[in-house]
Amino acid sequence: MISQSQSDRSSVVVVGGGLAGIAAAVRLADRGLAVTLIETRKRLGGRATSFVDPATGQVLDNCQHVLMGCCTGLLDLYDRLGVADQIRWYRRLYFAGKPGVIDQLEADDLPAPLHLTQALMGFRLFSLVEKAAIARGMLAIMRLGTIGRDKLSDTTFAQWLSDHHQPQGAVDKFWSVIVISALNELPERVSAAYAVQVFQEGFLASEQAYVMGLASVPLVRLYDAAGRVIEDAGGRVLLSTGAEGFAFDGQRVTGVRLANGNVLGADQFVSAVPHDRLIKLCPEPMRQADARLQPLEQIETSPIIGIHMWFDSPQGQPLMTLPHLVLTQSPLQWVFNKGYDDQLGGQHLHGVISAAHDLVNAPADQILEMAVGEVYKTLWHRRAGSAPRLVHGRVIKEKRATFSAVPGIDRLRPGAAGRIVNLYLAGDWCDTGWPATMEGAVRSGYTAAAAVTGGG
Ligand SMILES: Cc1cc2nc3c(=O)[nH]c(=O)nc-3n(C[C@H](O)[C@H](O)[C@H](O)COP(=O)(O)OP(=O)(O)OC[C@H]3O[C@@H](n4cnc5c(N)ncnc54)[C@H](O)[C@@H]3O)c2cc1C
Repeated sequence: MISQSQSDRSSVVVVGGGLAGIAAAVRLADRGLAVTLIETRKRLGGRATSFVDPATGQVLDNCQHVLMGCCTGLLDLYDRLGVADQIRWYRRLYFAGKPGVIDQLEADDLPAPLHLTQALMGFRLFSLVEKAAIARGMLAIMRLGTIGRDKLSDTTFAQWLSDHHQPQGAVDKFWSVIVISALNELPERVSAAYAVQVFQEGFLASEQAYVMGLASVPLVRLYDAAGRVIEDAGGRVLLSTGAEGFAFDGQRVTGVRLANGNVLGADQFVSAVPHDRLIKLCPEPMRQADARLQPLEQIETSPIIGIHMWFDSPQGQPLMTLPHLVLTQSPLQWVFNKGYDDQLGGQHLHGVISAAHDLVNAPADQILEMAVGEVYKTLWHRRAGSAPRLVHGRVIKEKRATFSAVPGIDRLRPGAAGRIVNLYLAGDWCDTGWPATMEGAVRSGYTAAAAVTGGG
């Protein structure tokens, strides 16, 4: 793709091989820069990847990762990596409410923003009063536009819901369910601006925006091509290579100190590590020199718990037949059907609890027991015979899963470029306008790459 030798080209080191770092490195390599991507772990993908479970030797996803039709940056990257066809799309979303009752959310033929109205108003989960309140709330969100939304950045969503007279049932069964899943934060802690954005861009903006995508392969497989794509474009990828810190001469970054004592020099540097790691990489004079680096300690985080469960099928009947289920009245918020697992001889279900502030410090066995109980309550309702037994379970706690989009968060989120002119920042926590998502990470990587090449 490029003809210049490595030494003729402007050189860039990208630190961190999550989605932000991959996006930045791919874009920079495509623009002809001599890119070196370094990643401390043995594989790319960061938080959005898989790991090998030492108990079974299986490749498990760190947690189910969901994307939506509105994730245009992520889809662009998947296209570039040649993996877009590994995403399976779901236009029909399943919600469990009253025992034994499943409601379905699917767009009809009406144009946006009306495409989901009929489905939502048909939900048996909501009373008539709750339906009317949700419709009023959606109308208010539509009327806000982006200007009205931005004015809500110092208010909590719980406050906004109260100001808009939303009954508790609508809050618990609808607004909270969507916001906690999308933003990994509770309505009483999350910025109303970000919550409103979820409904404006994920529900109302277009007929495709709400459609949910899930990888049909282990997440790590989505990045198999990334190393090759970067190398084919003239860059290189160094795995198992951790940065210990930046070398700084008072004006510019001069290199990245590696764990093996070597220093990797370059013209430009992109940091694509989480904000709490970046603090550790920056010597004090560097932090003093650049306002972007000063508020990083104030960024709060929020936990997510993922629960892998395998159930046998004593009567040949799988416990779950739907592809996924949103549990609207349960501490377990989502269950994903990962299919039959030959190795463990059972159906693999994956449960997710976002904004798990109250549960994250509970013992793993207790969390597993609770999740299994919720699964039975929802999926084995009124079924005869002996219920499938849990054959294996694995709880994964991510205590600092994502940054917390609390009111005022945007004052702490830095832009890509700043005072230290050859240091560019990327990561889902940067100033992307998006919550902590794969989409936000990719956008931040593209923005950093554009800043490096002078494109913005
Ligand atoms: C449990 C869980 C569930 C989630 N669910 C969803 C979801 O459903 N949908 C969604 O869109 N998002 C979800 N997210 C959020 C999503 O995973 C992140 O927003 C996104 O992956 C962040 O990408 P990133 O590149 O900014 O950071 P990271 O993925 O954290 O990447 C940073 C990389 O830097 C590396 N690194 C760190 N320090 C160093 C160093 N010193 N030297 C070299 N490398 C270093 C790390 O190993 C890592 O690979 C979830 C996150 C978690 C934890």
